[in-house]
Amino acid sequence: MIDVRHLIGGAWEVGPPAFDVLACDDGSVLARSPEADAAVVDRAVAAARAALPAWKARRAGDRAAVLLELADRLEAQTEPIARLVSREMGKPIRLVRVRELQGAVDKLRYFAGAARMLHGDVTGASPAHLLDLTIPEPVGVAALIIPWNDPVDLTVRKLGAALAAGCTVVVKSSEETPASTAAFFELCDDLPGLDPGVVNLVHGRGTPTGEALVTHPGVDKVSFTGSTETGRKIMASVAGRLAKVSLECGGKAPSLVFGDYDRAKAIDALAYGAFLYTGQSCTAATRIIVQREVYDEFAEAFVTRARSLPVGNPLDEASLVGPLVSARQAAKVRGFLDGIAADGGTVLTGGTVDGLYVQPTVVAGLAPDATAARDEIFGPVVLLFGADGEDDAVRIANGVRYGLGASVWTSDVSRAVRVARRLEFGDVWVNTHYVRQVETPFGGWKESGVGRELGLAGVQEYLAERRVCIDTSPTFHLADWFEER
Ligand code: NAD
Repeated sequence: MIDVRHLIGGAWEVGPPAFDVLACDDGSVLARSPEADAAVVDRAVAAARAALPAWKARRAGDRAAVLLELADRLEAQTEPIARLVSREMGKPIRLVRVRELQGAVDKLRYFAGAARMLHGDVTGASPAHLLDLTIPEPVGVAALIIPWNDPVDLTVRKLGAALAAGCTVVVKSSEETPASTAAFFELCDDLPGLDPGVVNLVHGRGTPTGEALVTHPGVDKVSFTGSTETGRKIMASVAGRLAKVSLECGGKAPSLVFGDYDRAKAIDALAYGAFLYTGQSCTAATRIIVQREVYDEFAEAFVTRARSLPVGNPLDEASLVGPLVSARQAAKVRGFLDGIAADGGTVLTGGTVDGLYVQPTVVAGLAPDATAARDEIFGPVVLLFGADGEDDAVRIANGVRYGLGASVWTSDVSRAVRVARRLEFGDVWVNTHYVRQVETPFGGWKESGVGRELGLAGVQEYLAERRVCIDTSPTFHLADWFEER
């Protein structure tokens, strides 16, 4: 049993236990978490504020060295942290190692490089006596709100970018996975160059902890990943003081399959795209829109592949689909399955919920505007739709409030580009699904979010631009400026 602790100003603090976290592999109590109230949050923000002047004044190369050391430490601790994430969140351990932890190590190294790539600008359009500069400055103290589905990787995406930019941070873990996020923070202990207070960690539920953090006047920037409903609340909370905010929210990814799709590749790739993380991913391929002439053959092959995926204990090396994160999530998925039956959907395979386990499920026959087709299920449930031509497929794909990830499957390059550019989604893949690289920005359109993560655009979210205009002329004054023009 792990006693999860807050990290405030470089000191670990054990609060009174507020809630238990159950392991997904055996249902035992894995961790006990404290819950930060407004006073604890206030101390964490004060620690981050106190550490800010020295951290932002450091050479970017020194900040990079901290991130590189953190990457090395995470890499060295892959095995115990992978085991913990797998038990706490339910993700099969081989996916945690490769997709979550190796991914997080790579991101820390990228952000170390990015710290040294911060550039401002000088306009060449000024008259010779003016030097007109734009200087990137860290925005200040950043509050980073994390969901449970990638408790380490999603922390790193935000924290790496924020530290690279020169911000100090207060992270709030998800109440489902506080131990995994805390295990990552333990790597910060005695890390040369990382002064106390640069990184702080608090635990607790949305209310009171999350709310106390995002409404705190000492927070200059809020970066959130989670559901659209919470994202909307957070945007309203920060509106009062116009703090900078970025939101990575929900998704309902469509995959558009055309008659000339690559059979051998698409079935396998879409099965991964749909069922990886047991469907608990914001870009999971949850709506597959297939041209009518190949619908039957696609459905048959996809169902066969879904049935062959190894479902099992997340610590079993063979498992590719694990349990859901919690009984709450299982109840939510069960509710959607009941709704699918009531709305006339036909379950082609799966559809059963046994404890935290849901067999990979494929459903046909739902209307594109049925509840399960519009809302995020966040479980291993894929809906198949038939489409008559390109326009129809694009119409079904765009007919949701979300706009995060989408994929197009065709051998016709002209069609691929044409369709990709008609899709109202921030991330469009062609003949693949789920490939993500730290070098390119990621984020949603519509109700999937505001702002970008990853890439230099992700670092930009933690910067404010300061313009400095220097007049080098001994005689110039404003009246001359107007006459000159
Ligand atoms: P959630 O919205 O329930 O919670 C996310 C985080 O917000 C948690 O830490 C929670 O405690 C906190 N929170 C809740 N209410 C708050 C409030 N009023 N103020 C401040 N913080 C508050 O989401 P979840 O169930 O943890 O995660 C699943 C959701 O995350 C899905 O919708 C998924 O699509 C989304 N997600 C999006 C991305 C992306 O990059 N776009 C990535 C992963 C997950």
